[in-house]
Amino acid sequence: MTRTTQQLIADRARLMGPNVSTFYDDPVHFVRGEGVWLWDAGGRKYLDCYNNVPHVGHCNPRVVDAICRQASTLNTHTRYLHDGILDYIEKLTGTMDASLDTAILTCTGSEANDIALRMAEAVTGKRGIIATDTTYHGNTSLVSQLSKSNIPTVGFGLGQYFRFVDAPDSYRAPDPDGTIFAALVADQIEGLIEDGTGFAALVVCPYFLNEGFPDNPDGWLKPVADVVHKAGGLLICDEVQSGFGRTGTHLWAHEKTGVVPDIMVLGKPMANGHPVGGVVANRDIVAEFRKGYRYFNTFGGNPVSCAAAMAVLEEIEAEGLQANAKVVGDHARTRLNALAAKHEIIGDGRGSGLIFGAELVTDRATKAPASDLTDRIINTMRQRGIIHSKLGRHKNTLKIRPPMPFSIENADLLFDTLDDVLSEVTG
Ligand code: PMP
Repeated sequence: MTRTTQQLIADRARLMGPNVSTFYDDPVHFVRGEGVWLWDAGGRKYLDCYNNVPHVGHCNPRVVDAICRQASTLNTHTRYLHDGILDYIEKLTGTMDASLDTAILTCTGSEANDIALRMAEAVTGKRGIIATDTTYHGNTSLVSQLSKSNIPTVGFGLGQYFRFVDAPDSYRAPDPDGTIFAALVADQIEGLIEDGTGFAALVVCPYFLNEGFPDNPDGWLKPVADVVHKAGGLLICDEVQSGFGRTGTHLWAHEKTGVVPDIMVLGKPMANGHPVGGVVANRDIVAEFRKGYRYFNTFGGNPVSCAAAMAVLEEIEAEGLQANAKVVGDHARTRLNALAAKHEIIGDGRGSGLIFGAELVTDRATKAPASDLTDRIINTMRQRGIIHSKLGRHKNTLKIRPPMPFSIENADLLFDTLDDVLSEVTG
C-alpha cells in the first residue's frame, strides 16, 4: 500500500497511538538513501546533515554486502558458538584503553545503558545515579528516569535513585576547567550518601551532545572523574552519539575529555542502522554483573548484527572517516565563523568534527534564545532540501551531525543555503 503524506500522518496516529514524534511542520517521507543523500516519495533529493545512524553513509555497500552475505549464510542467537561476535568484540576493544577489554552486545543504546546502571549497582552495592538535567539516555523503565524532560508517567517509581546537575553550558555559564561541574556532582553525591541511597555512578555523554555540545576544552572531564572515583562510584560514558570518530580528533570522545570510563555505552552508529548497541567495561566489572546471573539477549550480538558492526569499523578505517570528520569539521567551523560575522542571530558557533552548530539568539548582549526562529529555520531548510535539527535547553541550537562521508562540497551547500535562509528569516 502506498499512502500519501496526509494518510501516513493520519495512519500513524490511528495505528501507533498518540504522541508519536515526527520531524518538521511538514513531515518528510523518505523512500531511498545513498551516502549523504536522501530522496522523498516525490523523487526530491535532500542533503542529510543530521543522521548519525547511517554513520558510514546511507546504504553503504560494504555494510549492505556484509549483512546480505551473513543473512544468507546463518543467523542465530548467541547461545550457539560463533566467530563473528568474538572477532567484533576483539576488534572493537582493540581500539580502546586496555582496561576496556570485555563487552556485552545489545540491540539498542537503551538496553546498553540499562546494563551499565546495573553493573554500577553490582560493583558498588549502591543505587544512586547522577546525570545532567537536559540529557537523554534511553527508554527502559530504569534509563528513562535519566531524562528530566520526558519521564514516563508510569514506571515503577524508580525516580528516587536519580539526581541531576546543571548541564555544562560554555556560552551562558562558562566553566573553563570543569571544576564547577565537578563541584555540582560532589554536592549531589553528598546528598545521595546523606539520604542513605548511596552513590553508584555518574553517567554522561563525554561530549554532551544532547546538551548542545558545549565548547569544553580537552581534558574537561578530569576533575569530575576524580570526584566520582574518590566517592567510590563509577564513571559511565554514554558514547552512543559521540563515538566512532564523530568528533574528528579521536575515535572515542572520552579520549578528548581526558578520562577512561569505567563503563562505556555504544549504540546508534554502531552498525549503520542495523540495531546494535553495546556495553564495554573491564572484565572484573562485567564479572561482578554476571555473578550468579546469565545475562542473555536473543538478538544482541547475532551473526548478522556483528557482520554489520564489523563492516562499519572496517569502513571507518578503510575510508579514513575520522580524518575526514576532522578536515570537513574544521572547514565547517570556518564557514560558521564567517556566517556569525554576517548574521547577528548567531550567538555562539561550536562543535568538533562532524558535530557542529550554533546557538541562535535574538540579542547577543542578553543572549535571549531565538527558539521560535530556530524552529522556522529548521523548517525552511527542510523546504530547501537540507535536513538537520535543533536541540539544547532552549531548543535554539542548530544541530548538524551528518553521516561521516560528508564532504567539503556538502558543507558548502549546507552553509550557502543556511546563509540565504538566515537572511530570509531575519530580514
Ligand atoms: N544514549 C544517547 C546519548 C542517545 O542519544 C540515545 C538515543 N537518542 C540513547 C542512548 C538511546 O538509544 P536507543 O534509542 O538505541 O535506545
